[in-house]
Amino acid sequence: MPIALPPLPYPYEALEPYISRTTLEFHHGKHHKAYVDKTKALAKEVHLADQSLEFIIQQTALQERHRALFNNAAQAWNHAFYWRSLQPGGGGEPGGEIADRIKSDLGGHAAFAEQFAAAATGQFGSGWAWLVMDGGKLSVITTANADTPIAHGQIPLLAIDVWEHAYYLDYQNRRAEYADALIKHLINWDFANKNLGRRRERVTTPAGVCVAGPASPAA
Ligand code: MN
Repeated sequence: MPIALPPLPYPYEALEPYISRTTLEFHHGKHHKAYVDKTKALAKEVHLADQSLEFIIQQTALQERHRALFNNAAQAWNHAFYWRSLQPGGGGEPGGEIADRIKSDLGGHAAFAEQFAAAATGQFGSGWAWLVMDGGKLSVITTANADTPIAHGQIPLLAIDVWEHAYYLDYQNRRAEYADALIKHLINWDFANKNLGRRRERVTTPAGVCVAGPASPAA
């Protein structure tokens, strides 16, 4: 599977007024594209250019000499997942299995929204806020910089990018307002339910490493 920049799953202006067309043009067309391009170049040097991002991430995690490749591959993967975590007309209360799990594992939608916003706002510096399945339970976590739940055996269900480039043009320093807008208006609960439904799938990579199920954001 060749590494490529996936198209945005909606038009650039689709998330307005919460995320502007300008932000998405830079974020997808420049930032995400740069991560993909760098991954392709670095993967070629170590003969991994024909492998999937998931495989490259698994193979390079925690290896100092592959740190640049890991960072770029993880960022390429995280961004593809983030685009699909959002949708026009999203947000609000979920339905389906995710609603039941949020109730049983996190104390209900209001408690989830509070935890997710606090995680997004509280992450010090660049990184990501995630809703993940971890050991059979839902959990709200953050990762720093490029780090990704799929390098830690957790199954991501939703992501919010909290790097400044994700919100600075629209919200300047007001990261809390950005997180709040996404949670209220853009979260794609269908995507979260789909990821939850696929959690039992395990993908065995060529090296025999087990990668968490919903690992392909382009699927
Ligand atoms: Mn980003």
